[in-house]
Amino acid sequence: MLHDRDRIFTNLYGFHSASLDAAKMRGAWDGTKFLLEKGRDWIVDEMKASGLRGRGGAGFPTGLKWSFMPKQSDGRPHYLVVNADESEPGTCKDREIMRNDPHLLIEGCLIASFAMGAHAAYIYIRGEYVAEKHALQRAVDEAYAAKLIGKDNAHGYPFDVYVHHGAGAYICGEETALIESLEGKKGMPRLKPPFPANMGLYGCPTTVNNVESIAVAGTILRRGASWFSSIGRPNNVGTKLFCVSGHVNKPCNVEEAMGLTFRELIDTHCGGIRGGWDNLLAVIPGGSSVPVVPADQIIDAPMDFDTLRGLRSGLGTAAVIVMDKSTDIVRAIARISYFYKHESCGQCTPCREGTGWMWRVLNRMAEGRAQKREIDMLLEVSTQIEGHTICALGDAAAWPVQGLIRHFRHEIEKRIDDYAANPHSESVMIAAE
Ligand code: SF4
Repeated sequence: MLHDRDRIFTNLYGFHSASLDAAKMRGAWDGTKFLLEKGRDWIVDEMKASGLRGRGGAGFPTGLKWSFMPKQSDGRPHYLVVNADESEPGTCKDREIMRNDPHLLIEGCLIASFAMGAHAAYIYIRGEYVAEKHALQRAVDEAYAAKLIGKDNAHGYPFDVYVHHGAGAYICGEETALIESLEGKKGMPRLKPPFPANMGLYGCPTTVNNVESIAVAGTILRRGASWFSSIGRPNNVGTKLFCVSGHVNKPCNVEEAMGLTFRELIDTHCGGIRGGWDNLLAVIPGGSSVPVVPADQIIDAPMDFDTLRGLRSGLGTAAVIVMDKSTDIVRAIARISYFYKHESCGQCTPCREGTGWMWRVLNRMAEGRAQKREIDMLLEVSTQIEGHTICALGDAAAWPVQGLIRHFRHEIEKRIDDYAANPHSESVMIAAE
């Protein structure tokens, strides 16, 4: 459990002002110049020592990512790009940072950019986040006016921040698609290599980081790497924003210690499962792209990267989607499949064709209009998509389907049996609606 004194986002719920003065009173921009004076290498080493793993889903160590940027410029500028295209279904954490604590993000941009030799940062914000874009732009303007950033700022390091509003495509959350979109092209992922650290925005060395990863940097450096790494469990440290939605009594966003158990998270912050713990069916623990975990496996599991990977799922963005026994789990996963079909950019055949094919088969299965042998065929097709595409959207489409078959094959088979026994029964017709 996280103590209040260890919270980084002290205005997560917007109870206080998001203005610069209020943010300063909460600790933002405190001693930033002093941190920069310690030098690039110190910042990168401290971030490595903190054990911070990227908060956008993949969990790649942030300090290590920063260290991939060239030490010396070869004449090309370096860029920091902040991924604020928060579109993974279930995820709503970066939104709160930009609304209520935007100065932590802007300060983090300066620190991260300094550590990577970048003099400009682009914050790519999701198209639907209109109010958040205005809140963030207001904060950027305040920081310019106070000379915290800008060409001639109080920190002695020329630095600009640009807020770029996307058009609302999920795929632009993929880092290379985001870069393409920033350049004014269609948001289609690039083949890697070359990686953005060598050839990113406008062909220049670029690092793309999630909003939360950047917004925690200032506090980590102020309080020390050892403070951050003392929270949580080995290799899964620090505080984390969890977004809990679905069948809990009080859905919420909350900052907690990495590695608290699912039961602690729900009982402490969400008022328990709707109908009690016996009514829990399954949980999608990290946003819609990670496989579902059945109730008995998740209840006492620590919510961290390694444990959830051990359960063949993932922490992802820590968007915890709770489903009680009233959930039609086959239809729920079919709906997720529709999302990925809709958001596929269409560049690679397995993703373009496979996502639609999986959705159509799952839709039939939700009604029971299928053959049992098709379950294995669906699983096989999902493995042909996974790992065979340019970007991770193919994996994101395949994993929920695999999770469903792994844990709820019996439910699909029951639908098929029910439909075969009585194709026009009321329950089958309801499932088809
Ligand atoms: Fe586009 Fe899908 Fe290929 Fe990604 S996996 S590049 S979204 S077609």
